[in-house]
Amino acid sequence: TSTGQQQLIALHERTRDLYHHLLMNTKAGEDALTYLHERGLSDELISEFKIGFAPSQRDFLVQVAQQDKVNADLMERSGLFIRRDDGSFSDRFYQRVMFPLNDFRGKPIGFSGRMLKTEEFPGNDQPKYLNSPETELFNKRQVLFNFDKARNEIRKQGEAVLFEGFMDVLAAWQADIKIGLASMGTSLTEQQIAAIERITGQVVIAYDGDDPGQAATDRALAILDAHSRLTLATVTVPEKLDPDEYLRKYGVAELQNLLKHGRQTPFAFKMQYHKKGLNLDNESDRLKYLEFVMQDLAKVQSPVEQDLYLGQLAVEFHLTRESLKQQLQMVRQTLR
Ligand code: ATP
Ligand code: MN
Ligand code: MN
Ligand code: MN
Repeated sequence: TSTGQQQLIALHERTRDLYHHLLMNTKAGEDALTYLHERGLSDELISEFKIGFAPSQRDFLVQVAQQDKVNADLMERSGLFIRRDDGSFSDRFYQRVMFPLNDFRGKPIGFSGRMLKTEEFPGNDQPKYLNSPETELFNKRQVLFNFDKARNEIRKQGEAVLFEGFMDVLAAWQADIKIGLASMGTSLTEQQIAAIERITGQVVIAYDGDDPGQAATDRALAILDAHSRLTLATVTVPEKLDPDEYLRKYGVAELQNLLKHGRQTPFAFKMQYHKKGLNLDNESDRLKYLEFVMQDLAKVQSPVEQDLYLGQLAVEFHLTRESLKQQLQMVRQTLR
């Protein structure tokens, strides 16, 4: 690490600690703290993750930086400020709950700030989550939220759980599931996959139960399949809920239960997912579906697993195993 990087990390540490102090100990942070409590986060967890609050003033951090004699170049490179045309600075983050984003060693290199209450921003032109911009420290394609805290437990348990949002990772953490990771609201990257593969051979995808979450699951399976040798499983959260919402509604034991016993193989997920938008009472849709599913089934490695699903499809579509097997053979030849 260069001196410049060390200075940038120091500035992030100072900022993180100040935001955390504001949240925990000041009047300015009261609403944000109540918001987090209402979302079920304990003070213990808030402190462990050093969650903070960026106040509504646009120059809170600017003033701190000036008192600390941080030079303009460093301020600009940190991503924590916005530089106006006249050269002066304003804070990038204000009126937001601040989640520190750490590198794999646990050093803060950026933030994601959640707007406090959507209703307070009529017109809704503000993004719900605002991330640090790309800087020499922060590359969102490389960051996995919670990797630094979860890595040992992931190694020990032999698996990681991928969530869609930070709040899901935090909810799981409070439910004693300390192997949760999340990407930065983008699809998984090869760098992130490589980092996961270095510490475990197995990943459970537990994205949101809503349509975007299920579509993201399908995408993640394809990416992981193409770029890793990880063993994969999926969990579909019922009622289109987030894991976080599911925990709030049904409690710790039910979330644990879902993540343990609600797993599907990637093929079972796809079998269910690709029914979407099709009317299986309709013959041409049935054929379309079967063709699609057979393509996927042809890629399933285990003969036992293949046979299991062939049986299921035969029953569901009133077909003979024989005809399905022949179809599978044909698809296989075209795959070669
Ligand atoms: P919350 O529970 O706080 O409303 P969430 O985690 O359920 O948030 P989603 O809308 O499901 O949020 O989005 C999942 C993830 O996508 C978020 O955790 C965040 O990382 C990212 N994200 C969401 N909205 C934005 C945005 N406007 N800009 C950047 N990233 C975003
Ligand atoms: Mn969502
Ligand atoms: Mn949520
Ligand atoms: Mn969500």
